Amino acid sequence: MTQVKIGVVGCSGRMGQTLIGAILDQEKAMLSGGTERHDSPHMGQAIRHPVTGIDTGLMVSADAEALFKNSHVVIDFTCPTATVLHTHYAAKHGTIHIAGTTGMTAEDEKALWAAAEKVAVVYAANFSLGVNLLFYLTRKAASMLDEDFDIEILEMHHRHKVDAPSGTALSLGQQAAKGRSVDLDQVADRGRDGITGERRRGDIGFATLRGGNVAGEHTVSFNADDERIELSHKAGDRAIFARGAVKAALWATTQDAGLYNMFDVLGLPGE
Ligand code: NAD
Repeated sequence: MTQVKIGVVGCSGRMGQTLIGAILDQEKAMLSGGTERHDSPHMGQAIRHPVTGIDTGLMVSADAEALFKNSHVVIDFTCPTATVLHTHYAAKHGTIHIAGTTGMTAEDEKALWAAAEKVAVVYAANFSLGVNLLFYLTRKAASMLDEDFDIEILEMHHRHKVDAPSGTALSLGQQAAKGRSVDLDQVADRGRDGITGERRRGDIGFATLRGGNVAGEHTVSFNADDERIELSHKAGDRAIFARGAVKAALWATTQDAGLYNMFDVLGLPGE
């Protein structure tokens, strides 16, 4: 069996480390290397299995382009500026790009679309099976409940998270908006503080909590007079995202060029 060579950019980050473990634990894959930003304190250090500590014989490098050149797939959970640069390398070297970075602007996403004309790119705000099922259920519920049901999306993450609302919360909002056949930009209420006035009928509200080491919790609630429906997902460990990203990496090796998401990877009913 030929193993799929998978590299990890941002390999010393929280997700980077978890991804290293998930790749080393997957027999169909082999780790082709890992990079970090130039000023990372981990530069040049040995890349080890995060749980067993076994040395892979690889070292943390700053040369992302070389990693793309020497890999079938590169998994990228870094930051938007880095992901935009990485996707150029993916297109240039014909390397599949699995992008999990959140906080990407519409302009940043254009770079992923451009790369997807040359190579398979899987881009998702959330790589877990459970959350993708939650996306589907949210769309379905929103399509069945009228505007008597106010939709509110609550998320909580660890204290180190830098963007808000989470990419997953925004995707849940998009799914709810799709279910209602409205444009999220027209109905999103993302920041309530002070005298906000009454809630507008049809709005989709967002609320954010930060603290501790919470890997990710999301609840979509549908609130009518005298009754409330809540759909929730709680991530116990970020390994669920890493396993999903590795699954996407293996799946993408059989796909043509194009921009895919986890609905495609998991075979869930599409948009
Ligand atoms: P983190 O800060 O722990 O890790 C990011 C790593 O990327 C850091 O080690 C950083 O040094 C590195 N990095 C930054 N610029 C780089 C560059 N140019 N080259 C190489 N490495 C670079 O953050 P994290 O918690 O691991 O999250 C990373 C991203 O993944 C965030 O955007 C987060 O929201 C997202 N995320 C997505 C999912 C999902 O399922 N899609 C799940 C969890 C986290």
